[in-house]
Amino acid sequence: MLRAGGTVAFPTETVYGLGALAFDSAAVARIFEIKRRPSFDPLIVHVAGRAMLDEVVAGVPPAALALIEAFWPGPLTLVLRKSAAIGDLVTAGASTVAVRMPSHPVARALLEAIGAPLAAPSANPFGALSPTHARHVAAHLGARVDLILDGGPAEHGIESTIVALEPRPLLLRPGAIPVEEIEAIAGPLDREAEGAPIVPGRLPQHYSPATRLRVIDPALVAPAQRQGAASLALSHTFGGYDVSRALSSEGDLRVAAARFFETLHELDAMGVVRIDAQPFPESGLGLAIMDRLRRAAARNS
Ligand code: AMP
Ligand code: MG
Repeated sequence: MLRAGGTVAFPTETVYGLGALAFDSAAVARIFEIKRRPSFDPLIVHVAGRAMLDEVVAGVPPAALALIEAFWPGPLTLVLRKSAAIGDLVTAGASTVAVRMPSHPVARALLEAIGAPLAAPSANPFGALSPTHARHVAAHLGARVDLILDGGPAEHGIESTIVALEPRPLLLRPGAIPVEEIEAIAGPLDREAEGAPIVPGRLPQHYSPATRLRVIDPALVAPAQRQGAASLALSHTFGGYDVSRALSSEGDLRVAAARFFETLHELDAMGVVRIDAQPFPESGLGLAIMDRLRRAAARNS
């Protein structure tokens, strides 16, 4: 199906991706149609190894090599100068391309079988909650996708960390690899993305449920206001809410990240009037979770 220019959703260790041949611009255009994604939103290109990477980028600077050695295959996306083979639609006209090597065995087997890089954003409608199960893809993209490969729940459950390296190392999106681990290899990353392209992972409103969401400690919400609403927190549940979910009873942020989108999908389908989400500590994976929560909350505020 991919060789014929089709689109195939497949599991990765972060979230499910919607793939098409990166060098086939008509196939890449289908991804934008299916997701109703604006063409200013560049895609992440997935590769199986170094040879495929070299087809996609114009060169690999030493700082990128050190990160590749430390974190690939895995949930780190690098923004590097693109090769001539990568079309403008993939990069939204930028001279750089976002690229990563996934670790999920199904994603790797697919890339190796096809022998060519796959452009694959998250397999969800633009701006909506990310899919961490094949059933999320089926529910939200359904028949618009040619095929969905079911690899079970996504291990990390949150998108890749995105880092640009030139002119200086810059964090473009916190994600499944804590920024502290990347800084241990690359040195301090700039967080202020001044002059960097505004890309949708950084739009104030993204990753949104249909239900109104606010970031507030549920413990501070008056009992009368809990009625009809849901709470979402790291390790506590709260009385008085119609439904109350803790992401990890042990307070483990890895477990919380893995269950984050899945739990939001569930709460979003329950017909509650509002979701009250507890603020997360902004270190380690808490930074990536809090980033998603803020953007989800920006939707109706
Ligand atoms: P996703 O839907 O998780 O695959 O997100 C793809 C995201 O990767 C985009 O929304 C951007 O945030 C980021 N991205 C892709 N290409 C570039 C690029 N050339 N420069 C900066 N960020 C990029
Ligand atoms: Mg996405």
